[in-house]
Amino acid sequence: MRELAWDKYSEQELKNVFQFGEEFRKFLSDYKTEREQIKGYVELAEKNGYKDLKQYIETKTPLKAGDKVYYNNMGKMLLLFYIGKEPLEKGLRIAGAHVDASRLDLKPYPLYETDGLAYFDTHYYGGFKPYLWQARPLAIHGIVCKKDGRNIEFVIGEEETDPVIGLSDLLPHLSKDLNEKKASEVMPTEKMDLFVGSIPVKEDAKEKVKEAVLRLLKEQYDIDEEDFTSAEVEIVPAGPARHYGLDNSMVLAYGQDDRVCGYTSFRGMMEVKDPDKTCVTLLVDKEEIGSYGPTGMQSACFENTLAEIMELLGDYSELKVRRCLANSKMLSTDVTAAYDPNYAEVYEKRNAAYFGMGFCFSKYVGARGKSGSNDANPEYVAKVKAIMEKYGVSYQFAELGKVDQGGGGTISWMLAKYNMEVIDCGVPVHSMHAPFEITSKADIYETMRGNYAFFSAM
Ligand code: MN
Ligand code: MN
Repeated sequence: MRELAWDKYSEQELKNVFQFGEEFRKFLSDYKTEREQIKGYVELAEKNGYKDLKQYIETKTPLKAGDKVYYNNMGKMLLLFYIGKEPLEKGLRIAGAHVDASRLDLKPYPLYETDGLAYFDTHYYGGFKPYLWQARPLAIHGIVCKKDGRNIEFVIGEEETDPVIGLSDLLPHLSKDLNEKKASEVMPTEKMDLFVGSIPVKEDAKEKVKEAVLRLLKEQYDIDEEDFTSAEVEIVPAGPARHYGLDNSMVLAYGQDDRVCGYTSFRGMMEVKDPDKTCVTLLVDKEEIGSYGPTGMQSACFENTLAEIMELLGDYSELKVRRCLANSKMLSTDVTAAYDPNYAEVYEKRNAAYFGMGFCFSKYVGARGKSGSNDANPEYVAKVKAIMEKYGVSYQFAELGKVDQGGGGTISWMLAKYNMEVIDCGVPVHSMHAPFEITSKADIYETMRGNYAFFSAM
């Protein structure tokens, strides 16, 4: 049961753990927005024999057991299906995680000049502590959609020689008044404006520095000021993910909530061979802001795609789709809070998640008396436990902090609505929602193995 996974590893397994940790670190360095994540997964999936479902739908090509397909929804949500031998009516084995993460988005009219300096105005996405984003290099990952149909994608600030932008901090020497404020008031979110330029144009212009930035955007990226109204420009911490700890036992990366669970679910499913039940991985967007929108878990995309697949299997009816969903079993994979001795007061030690103890299950999440939680059936929980033990997966159970200290939500209830069994589970994290979050490589590895075990044996 609860044991340190590190204790059980042979030398070969230890190598696998570190190898997997490095592959994960690289993936998070390379793909830092939900769009980039989906792009990365499509590439990996194709390498693993997955084909674009849209082509099957267009050409009415039948599907059969053993086929692997993906559905890319607007470039921000990816559904992967590995068709099993049994009819879909019998239910799916689903793992689902979100690939969006807290960040700063540019406003529709972001650029302004004040006192001879140019700024980008932002609107934050998801929850975070604004002051943690100050005085650090930030990168721009954007897509601008032009009226003529062109989409301009750009990344600025990830190469060592690229310029970065940022949010300044007030020097301690002049912080007498600021130091009296509550932490939540230190950096008001409306003041999270990014310093982007200071050289004026030589010609006469009303706002010479703003004009210079506009010219630069036009020359280098063909972006006009009004193009930002049809754009998604995301500001994220610049630089790669890193190995963490003198012993390299952890990963430090932006956006591990919940890309660490997306990656482990995906990789776990890639290991599956000839499944009986159809296996599904859902990589969804918009979780941090309520799962709304067509690429969020509340959209009909999953249900619609399932209907398309059953049609291509020659086995579609409205009733069969409903039966398929109700007979399905799911791991709703999302991060949880790892016990942190520096903040011991917010945890209840007996029921906290610990680094190195493996794949972490939460029978319920939620806040204020489990509100908003799926609360998994114990009959199902017991089945999951039996499978983890059969496959030698290190796992633990935990709550997210002390009762009424706070809480959190996941996508689990949206799948449970179909009357399927769902359990919350995932990787424990330090510094969740901070610009850089920390996870244990043992937990990452065990979570991948736990997903594989679930797909193979549930
Ligand atoms: Mn989150
Ligand atoms: Mn999450």
